[in-house]
Amino acid sequence: MTHRPVLTHTRAELADALSRLPGTKALVMTMGALHSGHLQLVREARELADHVIVTIFVNPTQFAPGEDFDAYPRTLDADMDALETVGADLVWAPAPQDVYPTPATVTIDPGPIARVLEGKTRPTHFAGVALVCTKVVNLVRPDVALYGQKDAQQLAVLRTVFAQLDIPVRVHPVPIVRAEDGVALSSRNQYLSDDERIRARALSRALRRGAEAAEAGAEPAQIVAQCRSVIEAEGGIDLDYIALVDAGTFEILAGTESVPVGEGTAAPTILSDGSREGRILIAAKVGTTRLIDNMEVPLRDACAPAGRLAEHAGDLA
Ligand code: AMP
Repeated sequence: MTHRPVLTHTRAELADALSRLPGTKALVMTMGALHSGHLQLVREARELADHVIVTIFVNPTQFAPGEDFDAYPRTLDADMDALETVGADLVWAPAPQDVYPTPATVTIDPGPIARVLEGKTRPTHFAGVALVCTKVVNLVRPDVALYGQKDAQQLAVLRTVFAQLDIPVRVHPVPIVRAEDGVALSSRNQYLSDDERIRARALSRALRRGAEAAEAGAEPAQIVAQCRSVIEAEGGIDLDYIALVDAGTFEILAGTESVPVGEGTAAPTILSDGSREGRILIAAKVGTTRLIDNMEVPLRDACAPAGRLAEHAGDLA
């Protein structure tokens, strides 16, 4: 049976509500405007701990000037209704001053993994993500924190930050939830017009084409080229990057950018058949809306990465 989660805003309210939750805790961090992808994180969280804590916070430090911080949808009442259906116990929806009672002069630089792909286009983004996630984990003290593969690079960054700062939390990844038309669910999809929404389907189609090429044994560069050809055939999509990375280390395996990532990150992901697990990532603007998506792909040769390369469309112009 589900029940309405307890809603808290201040740090004191959060601490008081947490003290009433004995047992293990799972944390799901969101920026709100919740959809079925977020709710899947909460469902999985229920399986992993006695209590589920959800945070709803549009974090200013991860947005750069000119990004959509002000326009980002804020729908707390609807979010609370949605969370009631999946059985979250506690919601923390702080104001910026509750998270940052003093101006943040301390920064966290997650290192090379935060400087490629999303980190290249949004140079301050992952420092802001690392800061808010570290603070919230320290305030909530969960046993496990769940993050979606939708933001695969964020997940890799947080694993690196939590591991290297010895933050005692287990990270649990959740697969991407997609709409029936293949588009990955995102709070930003509501910015898309009907036409743009149709064009946006090309992103997941492109990833699937790349995955099919990988399954047929294509080389990393060929996998990326196949993926790119779908985006170009669709037209009207402003590609930021396509990259093939090792799913475990985030080492970049195909494209045009060369940045070493490996140090301090996880070991390469080798599957039971000896192949290496990869992930193709894509970022593109459809109209004025910037979308990201990714898909896991098997890579035939586990031992011989083709180079540390990613393709930033802007670099090629
Ligand atoms: P956000 O509110 O966009 O910051 O997302 C909060 C959490 O939900 C992050 O860990 C995201 O990766 C995850 N998430 C967002 N969309 C999806 C999706 N379509 N499938 C799985 N997880 C998602």
